[in-house]
Amino acid sequence: MNTYKLLTPGPLTTTETVKNQMLVDHCTWDDEYKAITQKIRKELLSLAHVSEDQYTVVLMQGSGTFGVESILVSSLKATDKILVCVNGAYGERMAEIAQCAGKKTIIYREEYNKIPDAEIIKNILKADPEITHVGMIHSETTSGILNDIEAVGKVVKEAGKTFIVDAMSSFGGIDIDVEGIGIDFIVSSANKCVQGVPGFSYIICKQLELIKCKGNSRSVSLDLYAQWETMDKDGKWRFTSPTHVVLAFAQALEELKAEGGIEAREKRYRENNAQLIQRMKKIGIRPYIEATHQGPIITTFLYPENKNFSFEEMYAYIKERGYAIYPGKVTDADTFRIGNIGEIYLEDINKVCDMIEAFLAAKNMCHACGL
Ligand SMILES: *Cc1c(COP(=O)(O)O)cnc(C)c1O
Repeated sequence: MNTYKLLTPGPLTTTETVKNQMLVDHCTWDDEYKAITQKIRKELLSLAHVSEDQYTVVLMQGSGTFGVESILVSSLKATDKILVCVNGAYGERMAEIAQCAGKKTIIYREEYNKIPDAEIIKNILKADPEITHVGMIHSETTSGILNDIEAVGKVVKEAGKTFIVDAMSSFGGIDIDVEGIGIDFIVSSANKCVQGVPGFSYIICKQLELIKCKGNSRSVSLDLYAQWETMDKDGKWRFTSPTHVVLAFAQALEELKAEGGIEAREKRYRENNAQLIQRMKKIGIRPYIEATHQGPIITTFLYPENKNFSFEEMYAYIKERGYAIYPGKVTDADTFRIGNIGEIYLEDINKVCDMIEAFLAAKNMCHACGL
């Protein structure tokens, strides 16, 4: 059995107690199981700071992308038009989903190290009244940048548009006032900051907006409205649910509560992240995103100049010693990434920084650490 810890942004390292829940086979139409689904839905509403009479939760089989796709294929009518704000690969993916589904799409692109500008979005909305929806990413996992959903939400709501947020790698790890910001659809998945395992995504929906989705979807399995209609009756999923994953997620929610809720988890992640960046700087490795926009989830690092090793070499060295890191994904710089979410503590961050330091010293590359 390999037992290395994941410093990746999901799937991530989960607790033994979360993994143990998956040793039970559960019947999908059993009342006890349906009650677990209902409890999860209720918990998620509370984590999102929304009122139960205004918002609802839909769980959707598949990875996070399936959740994003279910929102777009269900909430955009043929006459609707979406503005997608893009500053990374996940923003690109949202735009690709909209275009592939034949939706009228316009894209506002920023450099991958810049956040989408609310003022620019305001002007785009003013210039093109055909736009009905705005979609954006909260934590752009491509780089680790944290986009400003409050500022963008404000201009989107002032313009009276539907606001869709992919908070895949932030929900549960960064506190989001979903109702206060006025988000209509926000999506995350089981294997990110709630610290469950992969298998479904969840969409927190403003009920008035969800009701408008009825009959829109040209996909049967990704129909958000139909999924909700069935699930809302008594917690029975429309098609086979990932039972083991659901049990693990229910446990993960309990453990999030036991940790002290999102506030406490965010604090741990922020401390992990600050320690990581500080130690890497000491070794002479700098983050790609400037400090003001760096999120607490994952960090993109620039390799030291004139590096004499490959990512694969460094990856193998670190994995042998118990951790998995992540290759870079930004297009304009040579980088690698280290995530600090999941069952990860300062001790882990220090260990992996020690390893990188030793690896660079062995390569004669650790100019800054005096080795
Ligand atoms: C993880 C992630 C997704 C979903 O990716 P899947 O591979 O489909 O789970 C979408 N957006 C962001 C920002 C993510 O971090």
